[in-house]
Amino acid sequence: TYSIGPKISDWNEQRRAWLMENPEIAESSDGKPRILLVTGSPPKPCDNPAGDHYLLKAIKNKIDYCRLHNIEIFYNLAHLDGEMSGYWSKLPLIRKLMVSHPEFEWIWWMDSDAIITDMVFELPLEKYKDYNFILHGWEKEIYEKISWVGLNTGSLLIRNCQWSLDLIDAWAPMGPKGKVREEAGKVLTEALAGRPAFEADDQSALIYLLLKQKDLWGGKVYLENSYYLHGFWVAIVEKYDDVMENYHPGYGDERWPFVTHFVGCKPCGSYGDYPVEKCLKEMERSFNFGDNQILQMYGFQHRTLATFKVKRTQNDTDHPLEIQDDLNLLHPQFGQS
Ligand code: UDP
Ligand code: MN
Repeated sequence: TYSIGPKISDWNEQRRAWLMENPEIAESSDGKPRILLVTGSPPKPCDNPAGDHYLLKAIKNKIDYCRLHNIEIFYNLAHLDGEMSGYWSKLPLIRKLMVSHPEFEWIWWMDSDAIITDMVFELPLEKYKDYNFILHGWEKEIYEKISWVGLNTGSLLIRNCQWSLDLIDAWAPMGPKGKVREEAGKVLTEALAGRPAFEADDQSALIYLLLKQKDLWGGKVYLENSYYLHGFWVAIVEKYDDVMENYHPGYGDERWPFVTHFVGCKPCGSYGDYPVEKCLKEMERSFNFGDNQILQMYGFQHRTLATFKVKRTQNDTDHPLEIQDDLNLLHPQFGQS
């Protein structure tokens, strides 16, 4: 039978010992817990070349955010585990990175099709001190409505600890491709409200696990909905003009969404739930919306959200250091206490 790796049962002790022996690595330069943002895409070129172009924009977007907020980044292009392909590939990858990098307190998985649209907003880690697993979702949708979209696994935070290794062990068994995944898909469609018939996916399997073993896992899972750790693109992209007119970056919620995730879009290849043209158009707008916050530091903006073309918003001066940095993004670490 499938195993995601040798059983580890004393990871907290192993990790603590390593951190004691390597104190200079254990401490991050800003005194905050270290975060590793993990993302990735398939090893082969996209069937549609435009898909590769948007993968490039999506990683550029994440690199920008991570540079500004002292977060490290890992991009995976390999299939580490033949059985756990597609959306399941994040499980072995997260596990491998956790046990290889005890210095990271948090792994932040982000799908390749999720764009950071608030470059100022910071993850409220303090709020999560008693939790190990943070996802965008709602208790009621999961535990009362049994909805298959009660949470989203496209942007999640998972603490580097024994509990998380145990959770991944419990989560993985529906993943192996072929017969296991096919059969598990039937169980999930039967159990979860609104789920179409298809093979087991990681999101449905997680909801099923939480429903079946709430006592075991529920207490350490934080379902976040006070800001868009993940935000469903369809509801967000229509609001950008309104948002830009009335608010400024930093809220992360309806006023200025933190993450815009293109759930159901498959611009790289296979058929999705939405037309590829619509997806690409809105990905372009979302990227430019986030990118405007980067360009403004240097005195530029996209001409409109629909175009890569830019315009100047400031004239160059012979005293460049006197220019106002409205969002405090040029040297954000100086603005923090
Ligand atoms: N992924 C990957 N390698 C693969 C296939 C998928 O790293 O071979 C990642 C990629 O980041 C992708 C994520 O898995 O965004 C989840 O898939 P997708 O976004 O297509 O699912 P959706 O969010 O639409 O349900
Ligand atoms: Mn996705």
